[in-house]
Amino acid sequence: MALDAFERFPLLHGPSPVHRLDRLSDHLGGARIWAKREDCNSGLAFGGNKTRKLEYLLPDALAQGADTLVSIGGVQSNHTRQVAAAAARAGLKALLIQESWVDWPDPVNDKVGNILLSRIMGADVRLVQESFGIGLKDSWRRALDEVRAAGGVPYAIPAGASDHQFGGLGFANWAYEVQQQEQQLGVFFDTIVVCSVTGSTQAGMIAGFAGQDRPRRVLGIDASAKVDETRAQVEKIARNTAALIGLGRDLRDDEITVLEGWAGDLYGIPIESTVDAIRLAGKLEGMIVDPVYEGKSMAALIDLIRRNEIPRGSNVLYAHLGGQPALNAYHSLFHCT
Ligand SMILES: *Cc1c(COP(=O)(O)O)cnc(C)c1O
Repeated sequence: MALDAFERFPLLHGPSPVHRLDRLSDHLGGARIWAKREDCNSGLAFGGNKTRKLEYLLPDALAQGADTLVSIGGVQSNHTRQVAAAAARAGLKALLIQESWVDWPDPVNDKVGNILLSRIMGADVRLVQESFGIGLKDSWRRALDEVRAAGGVPYAIPAGASDHQFGGLGFANWAYEVQQQEQQLGVFFDTIVVCSVTGSTQAGMIAGFAGQDRPRRVLGIDASAKVDETRAQVEKIARNTAALIGLGRDLRDDEITVLEGWAGDLYGIPIESTVDAIRLAGKLEGMIVDPVYEGKSMAALIDLIRRNEIPRGSNVLYAHLGGQPALNAYHSLFHCT
């Protein structure tokens, strides 16, 4: 089945904006950098990459007669906030399991940012003590049972909307959107830099680009600090998505690249390079990135260009996947300038 045969529930404004980051490029003195902005992809509660994925899950939820989207993430999950927004837009309820994935002892961590937005949107938000993991959880199964016991019809959306048969479709379509924008702009992005944790963002891109004629590199930057798990997840979802959209060949191993070195020791905890990258993107471009995901992939982009691993002469596309609301819980990093 070709990608455009899958139904989409419209959540995005249209193609997400692509623009140059000239001051950052000049500062680093190497490859030319552009950004594609999933943080402004929609009018739903600050957008983000999960909104794009959810466009392909919602028709399935509605076809199954679901009345409640059930999902899971950390306390400051961008994903669950986007599930709450998608549920509101589609007229469904949202039950969100927010686990203690990140040991970030800020007194407002469970009150501001993403979790505040989910509460405003009417989601049933449950705080649960469980540690980081992107697999299936008991707390999540119990939530599904609870909805059924109350006579409702739950629709299960795994962490990051990744380990789901349609999880990769949103970003497979992103790859075609990039191709069209390249034709309009008269540019070719030979390198894509994208943050990876639950995997279906990068995996979808890989599957989508694999069907295009001109090869390019999709560099996943691990932000989970468990790079082997991230790589395995990206590979599995990329292969499933490629088969689902009828790629007609197996993906090669060299099409799946997940790099480590910028996550630090723990998911959700920024390190010095993260904070430096957040400040640099803010100072030079007025572009805000977060301490959990995009600050880490931005730090990687900066290093890879400085080391010439993304060579001078390249056009690199930085996939900005959103995530800024979490910054509120990380205010203490920026008390002094
Ligand atoms: C979820 C998320 C990611 C990681 O995307 P995956 O599809 O889970 O790999 C990166 N950045 C932000 C802001 C996110 O919310």
